[in-house]
Amino acid sequence: MTARRPRFQRYTDAERKAALRKYRKARAAGKSPTAAARSAGTDIAVIERWEDEAATPVKFTPRDRACLGCSITFRSAHPGNRLCPKCSGAIAALPAAWSA
Ligand SMILES: [Zn+2]
Repeated sequence: MTARRPRFQRYTDAERKAALRKYRKARAAGKSPTAAARSAGTDIAVIERWEDEAATPVKFTPRDRACLGCSITFRSAHPGNRLCPKCSGAIAALPAAWSA
C-alpha cells in the first residue's frame, strides 16, 4: 500500500529530478503548467519553488576585495570577509586585553 504524499512534503533529490523531468516532458507536449505539474505527481507551486531555487545564483561568490586593514587586494570568500589572511591573523594574535 502506498501512502498518499501530503501536498508539501519534502522530496528527495531523486524524486525531485524525476518529477521535474515528467513536468518538462508534459510541458513540451503542450500541457498547461498546472496540468503538467499534476501529471508529474506534484503541484505547480512546488515546481515553481524548485525552478526558483535552481535559478538563484550561489549567494557567496569568492571575489577580489581590498583588505580593510592594509588595503592589499586579496581573495575574499564572502561579503563579510574584508581582512586579508595576514590582517585577520594579526588580529587573532592580539592579546585579549587589546580587543576588549
Ligand atoms: Zn590586510
